[in-house]
Amino acid sequence: MKAEIMGIGTELLMGELTDTNSSWIASKLPALGIQLQWVSIVGDDLPMLTEAFKKGMERSDIIFTTGGLGPTQDDLTREAIAAAFDESPTIQQEVVDDLEKYFAARGTSMPSHNLKQALLIPSAKFVPNANGTAPGWWAERDGKIIICMPGPPAENRAMWEEVVEPQLTELVEDEVTITRNIKTMGMSEGAVDEVISEFFGVENPYLGIYSKADGIHLRVIARAKDSASAQALIVPVEQAIHERLGEYVWGYDDETPEKAVGMTLLEKGLSLAVMETCTGGALTNNITDVPDSLTYFKGGAVVYDGAGLKANGVPAEVVDQHGVVSQQTANAMAETVRRNLNADLAVAITGVPGPGEFDGKPLGLAYISVTNGTQTREMEMRIPPRRVTIKRRVPNQALIELRRLVDEIT
Ligand code: ATP
Ligand code: MG
Repeated sequence: MKAEIMGIGTELLMGELTDTNSSWIASKLPALGIQLQWVSIVGDDLPMLTEAFKKGMERSDIIFTTGGLGPTQDDLTREAIAAAFDESPTIQQEVVDDLEKYFAARGTSMPSHNLKQALLIPSAKFVPNANGTAPGWWAERDGKIIICMPGPPAENRAMWEEVVEPQLTELVEDEVTITRNIKTMGMSEGAVDEVISEFFGVENPYLGIYSKADGIHLRVIARAKDSASAQALIVPVEQAIHERLGEYVWGYDDETPEKAVGMTLLEKGLSLAVMETCTGGALTNNITDVPDSLTYFKGGAVVYDGAGLKANGVPAEVVDQHGVVSQQTANAMAETVRRNLNADLAVAITGVPGPGEFDGKPLGLAYISVTNGTQTREMEMRIPPRRVTIKRRVPNQALIELRRLVDEIT
């Protein structure tokens, strides 16, 4: 089944709003065996929207849209489908009643403009919206389907999960797609590509390689008539990746470094403390994104200069002799905060955040230290000299090193 997605709204065309709805919907389609072929953005303009629906119906079996279902005059999705289908919309009394109840429950009466949300054409039915006033539309004509959802993400995601996806599953049960995402850190993209080169260029299972802030990801996508057969296509590729890159693999699917670390620490009952300089709290921020982090995370310090390190108990002689940005200082930071907070493990990051060099050390140089008091993993990194890149990459690497240390010692 060939699909396309339309993000509707002039705000999107002006660059004032980013079309996250379309990418969210796109991420849901492979598992349903629906092949996405086009994504477009169309403004709140009746002739253009009508044209877009006509074009879409020629080239796709199914069109998903978000936006333009509200009560205002620039919400024109319904009107455009009616025009493309050459059908006249009529007001549906049961939806008017629902809308009146919705407003009465909020202590007001329904504005007359909301009436248009009760419009329907003969080829469409409503999709209930549990989180807002605008019902969606599910329209069908000549074997083609148009599914319209409201713009606000909370509304269209709930509508997707509660109504749209279950109904699509019934329609497209002849094929399934399974995706496996394998995440590595420590080898360059080119090196990874070379080691498993024979798997690239195959259509099914398809292997993709992506460079991300948390390393090189390998995505295997397999399509088959049922999940067992799709899984069987993935297994040999995954095995080869493990045999050749095993020591670099740190996670799977939607795992993040902080989730991977969190799970390991929870499982082993270990606690963690941190001290960071150039990442300005990004390491702490990532760790505390995990809901269970309170169980294992003891806290730490964000420090930006030598005086701050000393005030937090890092030995002055180490800082003075080796400088703020050095492996020795990173090691001393980790051990100091581990003891201060009585934690089993500690991670320290120190580096040069920019704008220029610091203390004779180049921008983008960073040191990581991970310790449990007896064993320490050290690492020197050279990051592209951009502040955001440093803040995104160094914490990920530090957490993956932590995970490796825990695996070594337990
Ligand atoms: P409403 O009833 O809220 O007017 P609607 O279906 O008419 O809903 P729009 O008016 O197009 O939707 O958008 C409402 C809000 O939804 C936007 O201001 C924006 O916050 C969010 N939104 C709309 N389209 C998108 C999109 N493609 N990606 C992310 N957010 C979006
Ligand atoms: Mg609107």
